[in-house]
Amino acid sequence: MAAPLVPGRRHLRDGISTLIPQGVGLPDAAFSARHGLLRVVLAGHLPALAVFGMVRGYDPSHVLLEVSPILATVLAERLSRTQRWRALWVTGGLAWCSTVLVHLSGGQIEAHFHYFVVVGLIALYQRWLPFVWALGFTVASHGIGTMIAPASMFNHPAAINRPWLWAGIHGGAVLAATITQIVFWSAAEREQHRVEELSDDLVATARENASQRARFESLVANAFDGVAIVCPAGDVRWQSPAMARIMGTRPGGALVDVVREGDADRLEVALAAAGRGDASERLMVRCGTDDPRWIELSLVDLTANPDVGGIVVNARDVTAHRKAEHDLAWQAHHDALTGLPNRAKLDQLLADLATGPDADRNLAVMFVDVDDFKHVNDRLGHSVGDQLLRDVGRRLREVVRHQDVVARLGGDEFVVLCTDAGTTEEVLVVAGRIASALDDPFQIDGATVAVTASIGVALHHPDQPVEELLRHADLAMYAAKDQGRDRIEVFDHTRHLTDHRAGLHDELQVAIEVGQLRVHYQPIVSIESRAVRGLEALVRWEHPERGMVSPAEFIPLAEVTGLIVPLGTVVLETACADLVRWDPHGDTTVSVNVSGVQLQRSSFAPTVERVLAQTGLDPRRLTLEITETVVVGDDAVVGTNIDRVTALGVRLAMDDFGTGYSALVTLKRYAFDIVKVDREFVAGLSEHSSDAAIVRAVIGLAHALGMEVVAEGIEHADQLAALAAIGSDFGQGYAFGRPVALEALPPASGVGWAIAPAPAVTTAS
Ligand code: C2E
Ligand code: MG
Ligand code: MG
Repeated sequence: MAAPLVPGRRHLRDGISTLIPQGVGLPDAAFSARHGLLRVVLAGHLPALAVFGMVRGYDPSHVLLEVSPILATVLAERLSRTQRWRALWVTGGLAWCSTVLVHLSGGQIEAHFHYFVVVGLIALYQRWLPFVWALGFTVASHGIGTMIAPASMFNHPAAINRPWLWAGIHGGAVLAATITQIVFWSAAEREQHRVEELSDDLVATARENASQRARFESLVANAFDGVAIVCPAGDVRWQSPAMARIMGTRPGGALVDVVREGDADRLEVALAAAGRGDASERLMVRCGTDDPRWIELSLVDLTANPDVGGIVVNARDVTAHRKAEHDLAWQAHHDALTGLPNRAKLDQLLADLATGPDADRNLAVMFVDVDDFKHVNDRLGHSVGDQLLRDVGRRLREVVRHQDVVARLGGDEFVVLCTDAGTTEEVLVVAGRIASALDDPFQIDGATVAVTASIGVALHHPDQPVEELLRHADLAMYAAKDQGRDRIEVFDHTRHLTDHRAGLHDELQVAIEVGQLRVHYQPIVSIESRAVRGLEALVRWEHPERGMVSPAEFIPLAEVTGLIVPLGTVVLETACADLVRWDPHGDTTVSVNVSGVQLQRSSFAPTVERVLAQTGLDPRRLTLEITETVVVGDDAVVGTNIDRVTALGVRLAMDDFGTGYSALVTLKRYAFDIVKVDREFVAGLSEHSSDAAIVRAVIGLAHALGMEVVAEGIEHADQLAALAAIGSDFGQGYAFGRPVALEALPPASGVGWAIAPAPAVTTAS
């Protein structure tokens, strides 16, 4: 194992090793240059030494003998293949030249300088082998030469006597003299090494750049989308191959020139905007004349980027995409067989008409059903059937106005929608035209097919939603079918309403009898203490198909038909019984709404008496809610009823106060105990000071007359606060609770049954 070097020695060794060259030689080009020079120098010695020998008086044959090895090395060099041998031959030749020069000069010490020059020249090879060869030749030629012919090597006796010592001295001197060369050689070698590394790096970088460039070029060349660089004026400065295919542009041409006229202006504006550095724009343009291609363009301003220096335009051909989209939209809204609008499209049109600016326009819908179409299909086959439907569609289209719509709903059902339809008579003229359009038999595949149609007509009625039109026309069409086909029926709006009411009346009667009516309760709460004062009974109809139906929908009908009497009785019975059940010993009240129709019946007071007796409810715990309008008239029966029930201790509340005729007189006349302020005023409390003024006046008046006040429809915390400030006694509304079934109410525990306002409502402002 080698002993580790101490640091000082290591530095020395490192220092020396940097000074000593590796002798790796030269790059080919440098070798050729230097070697060529040395070869010329060598060849030049041949005549020079020959002349020198003659001048010195030597015999020409002697001179020839001495210089002939020079000629030999020149020739040998010529024949050598490798750099090493060629260098060695030249080295040997030059060293021999030194020996010949010294010899021909008669051992002149100055002639020995030639060796110095030669070894220095040989160092140019930057290879150890020629260098050592030159040094070795120097030493050997001195030693051997002195031994053979001492006087021709040295002209002083010391060297002649000690030939090898002086050979060594000369060799050492030559070596010392060429040390500078060695150091230079070493530096040159390092530099060369560095340059090689650098050039390797450069080559690698250049290669990488070239391959990257090639990659990008091929990407751009083969890209599906086109790219172009355009100057803000719109001229194409550079473009990818795809650009020519997609847009038909050419370098130097104007981009807008290939775009359709209508789109060119937009493109110009977009280019100008992009040129000003506005955010990149995306726009759709059309190229080509007959069958235009749709091109989506995106513009990015890279004018400031010196490598680009323009607006980059990306172009994508979206024609197929747009066509597919268009086809899909078309298919979704059209009937594949006839190409007419389908049900979805018709519904959409009707919805647009219903909500559009001309929502009240004069519309008519005709439902056209081909009679016995099934027969045609069965008898003549489906393809004839299909063709018949296509032909029917075409004939319908031919007899209506351009702005009217002919749609096919499926099967043999067509619909004609007329906008600006005119009077019933005018619509009937159109319907007649449609019927006669089908009079001529159809010729299909050699068969003669005669058909008729049943047509149902519905005209838009201002009270009916537009969407109902189709249903009404359908009903009329069925009526036409019922009456023997091949005819036109008009939907009778009034008769339909009567029918509708009659149907509802029957249903409601059944509902009362089989017990589909439910009573829900909404708490009436003390504004100050938040204790529950009582419950208001509100009727609901649990319809087997429609679910919970609101009283607003059926109470008016029940009043018109008189069904309100049995209905009211059911509610009264249920409410009284429920209160006794819910709060048997307390003093909470139940408020029952009573219609004017009920009060006009002499049976009303006896019914109340009976119900109170049957349920055992304290009459003072029952409140009857009556609206102003009911008691405005001077009806004797109403008066008697009211007097009789109040005599029992039943209390009276004036419901929805403020919405009907102003009835201060009524308030006074029937000794109402409670006034219920309508929710219309409560709703406006926080915003309108006039509402606040009204409520304040009503409360003041009610209190002056010794009545309590219940504010209806309290939904928000701020309404509650305002009512508290104004001095309302009680409140009712979603803020305290919605009407719910008895089972859903919290148990009544009499006093202190406080309800916190619902959180969602409290936060609302
Ligand atoms: P009403 O007697 O004025 O009853 C109050 C109505 O306001 C109820 O509607 C109730 O649900 C609703 N309401 C309560 N709090 C709020 C609130 O905070 N915000 C809003 N927006 N509404 C609230 P409902 O139950 O639909 O009853 C409507 C009307 O039908 C009643 O008005 C009453 O006139 C009548 N009615 C209900 N049940 C009967 C009944 O058994 N017989 C008679 N003759 N009429 C009844
Ligand atoms: Mg009420
Ligand atoms: Mg009310």
